[in-house]
Amino acid sequence: ADLYNIDKWGAEYFSIDAKGDVVVSPKGSEAGPSISLLEVIKEVEARGHSMPVLLRIENILGSQIRLLNETFRSVITQYDYKGEYKGVFPVKVNQQEHVVEAVAEFGAEFNHGLEAGSKSELIAAISMLGNRDAFIICNGYKDEEFIDLGLYAVRMGYQIFFVVEVPGEIDLLIERAKYHDVMPSIGLRIKLATQAEGKWSESGGESSVFGLTMSHVVEVIDRLLEEEMLDSLKLLHYHIGSQIPDISDIRAGAMEACRLYEELVKEGAPMGYLDLGGGLAVDYDGSNTNSQSSRNYTMVEYCSDIVESISTVLDKHDIPHPTIITESGRAIVAYSSVLLFNILDVSAFEPSELPKRIPETQNDLLENLMLTYTMVSEKNIQETCNDTLFYRTQARQLFKHGQISIRQRAIAESLVQHIFIKIREISKTMPHIPRDAQEIIKLVYDIYYGNFSLFQSLPDVWAIDQLMPTMPIHRLGEEPTRPAIISDITCDCDGKIDKFPDIAQPKKSILLHPLKEDEEYYLGVFLVGAYQETLGDLHNLFGDTNVVSIHVNDDGSYNFSKEIEGDSVEDVLSYVEYDLKAVRSRLKALAEDSIKKGYIKPRERKTILRAFEEGLRGYTYFEKE
Ligand code: PLP
Repeated sequence: ADLYNIDKWGAEYFSIDAKGDVVVSPKGSEAGPSISLLEVIKEVEARGHSMPVLLRIENILGSQIRLLNETFRSVITQYDYKGEYKGVFPVKVNQQEHVVEAVAEFGAEFNHGLEAGSKSELIAAISMLGNRDAFIICNGYKDEEFIDLGLYAVRMGYQIFFVVEVPGEIDLLIERAKYHDVMPSIGLRIKLATQAEGKWSESGGESSVFGLTMSHVVEVIDRLLEEEMLDSLKLLHYHIGSQIPDISDIRAGAMEACRLYEELVKEGAPMGYLDLGGGLAVDYDGSNTNSQSSRNYTMVEYCSDIVESISTVLDKHDIPHPTIITESGRAIVAYSSVLLFNILDVSAFEPSELPKRIPETQNDLLENLMLTYTMVSEKNIQETCNDTLFYRTQARQLFKHGQISIRQRAIAESLVQHIFIKIREISKTMPHIPRDAQEIIKLVYDIYYGNFSLFQSLPDVWAIDQLMPTMPIHRLGEEPTRPAIISDITCDCDGKIDKFPDIAQPKKSILLHPLKEDEEYYLGVFLVGAYQETLGDLHNLFGDTNVVSIHVNDDGSYNFSKEIEGDSVEDVLSYVEYDLKAVRSRLKALAEDSIKKGYIKPRERKTILRAFEEGLRGYTYFEKE
């Protein structure tokens, strides 16, 4: 059985082979090569890169760009839509040079462009794109320098749209355009009343902090008329949020925007471009529903609903169909990265053996727990739950007040755990498991310690409870028997994955395999290509992981197209402003002082300083000997 639902969220890019390894098929549904992640890990380690590793499979990114563009193209033909589709990739979703480079490269065939929301992103976009037939959309608050850079790019032949986000921007844009004697293509970002469900719903709606209200729009039109520049108003843009789970919100947004588009045409603006922003969601939990981690539509439905909504509204008024632009980022890059890490240790839910004889205490606590343990059955399961939880609280209270010893408390704890396990076993055959028993079963799990930092590599899992598919990448022919949660190696109790995507509702634990001696156990967190890399932080000074990009060839071989060393300890210390020269000389002085005061012998100095030097140059994560 597909215990981890890989057939659902894997979008045909990820599946399990006959050996029980997760394999990647970058061409998705088309018959094409598959490679085993375990094989890749072995090769990555042989090349000297320790886990954790962020693996990018660059042709998946290419496949997603192709899928989006080809789907729009075929829907456009099917609906006899008169405009074309031209997508842009928002650099903010993954700014890494190699990713933007791959977008530019794979997107060239479709003139897929880039969206920039800051000066840095604009410079990155201008330097990476190269293709003058693709668009660059400038969103975000723009100062003079931002606008000037964009205008210079127009002078160099790029097709740039300057999207006005706040009313004040228009005066600066007019002034700079006149100064450079360049006619800019202007867009307006509007606040729609449509508000999508989902975690990012506040990006849209009338209360959103971004975009122009209707009166702002009128003000901007009047300013452009005054300056005889209405000819430059060509684009309407909105963004109602990332990861929109419900197709009806996508349709409602497009229809509302078209009404405004129609008004702008009536005002005399040439228009021609409608930019619907992002929102195309990823089915992280594989449920294909409107849950926050999923979406209740396919790519075909997404494209069809947009094309159909636009033509329905505009055809009524004989308004020519605009070029459709979308700013999908998440759906383009999420699938292409997998975080791979090894398990370092397990704290198993294995209560210690019960003593042959229960020691006598001044109260009946241990006897009562023992009785509960021996009596538990299907019939009294609810009563057992109530009693066990009651005695557990009692044990804590008695210990607090000095009425039981640490040894007696340990026996009580162990008895409670034995009862929990019995409840779980008995429930397995019960058609209806009482709610309290269900809650108790959720407490029976091991803690698997993974060699990664949640804060660095999966910040959305920590910050907004984003669900990301997580599973072992090998041993899938064996039955996983241990319910577990996964802890990272930061010493922060928030650093754990304890919600796992499932079709019905998130699960609180995941089934994993018991560790084997002398064999590493590797897990993967999938679909992590969007937003995670730069949102991650240096909590506990765990730095960037090693990053490896592969390109899978048609014959099933693959090349390592990029290998980027993760941060060293020295790197992360410098990020938090340590002067490494000073750190080294302080360590030297400390060693001298320790010799002087007799803590260490003179000959130990060299070994100790060498160990610190190696530590500074080493990886921030757990390294094998
Ligand atoms: N465009 C704008 C203006 C955005 O703010 C965002 C992200 O929220 C996107 C595009 C990317 O959207 P998505 O994550 O749905 O691909």
